[in-house]
Amino acid sequence: MKLKVFINGKILPEDKACVSVFDRGLSYGDGIYETMKARDGQPLFLNEHLKRLRTGGRFLGLTGIKGFEDMIRGGALQKLLNANGLGRGEAYVKLLVTRGTDKAGHLPAKGISPTLIIIAKPIDTALIRGIQEKGVSAVFVDDVLPALPGVKSLNYLPSVLARMKANRRRAFEAIFVKDGFVEEGSSSNVFIVKGGRLLTPPLSGTPSEGVLAGVTRAAVMIASKKNGITVRETRLRPKDLYRADEAFITNSIMDAVPLVAIEGKKVGGGRPGMLTKLMQELLK
Ligand code: PLP
Repeated sequence: MKLKVFINGKILPEDKACVSVFDRGLSYGDGIYETMKARDGQPLFLNEHLKRLRTGGRFLGLTGIKGFEDMIRGGALQKLLNANGLGRGEAYVKLLVTRGTDKAGHLPAKGISPTLIIIAKPIDTALIRGIQEKGVSAVFVDDVLPALPGVKSLNYLPSVLARMKANRRRAFEAIFVKDGFVEEGSSSNVFIVKGGRLLTPPLSGTPSEGVLAGVTRAAVMIASKKNGITVRETRLRPKDLYRADEAFITNSIMDAVPLVAIEGKKVGGGRPGMLTKLMQELLK
């Protein structure tokens, strides 16, 4: 299926939606992105995703984020979803901003305009439902780690390599471990359940350490507190995951997915746990 893509204010067929070979997103990963889900034409947690895009944009010193936000809020995203026949059901949405195009080196040229892209594509809902019900396995990765884990930048090479490594070992997700502590998955945050409480690695407050401030992570924390379930942000070691009563991973496309095995060892008896299932319900 040929998709239509939003690029710099226009909706074009995917083969006409092109960037320059000098785009800094391509040359240096100089940009940021967001991935979110739309349901029946409505992006979920749009404010939270746009806030993270703004924060990332400020950190990178990108221009044009405000204008992009106005276009999105002004109907560009709905228009794109409709143009792709995705106004009903669930869709995958990606917002992407690069610093723009120049022929400069690492130091960007002055006065360049950002490249603004929105991609909307179908979601394999049957696949997602399957992994939500059965759970997934993961491996630990400690040799390739994100340089700026707190920013959803276009530099996702560590996640790509980690995911390839997981795939080679027939696991679904790769979980980063830094200095002996569990951080996050290649595209997910990690939670465990121990003694009826939820535990998750903390945010560091600095872009170069810790984990991404996941929108779903925050939603899980809010829903838990509302429902009287204690959540603690605390550093976790791999052994805490092996010994957990339950574990799950979260992101905007999959919501909460049970983690039933790590490094070939069963977690929580190898089956999705009760609190994990409750979280899946609350996220719905
Ligand atoms: N951590 C990383 C490294 C991610 O790439 C993602 C999202 O893809 C997440 C966590 C989860 O974030 P969110 O819940 O906002 O999708």
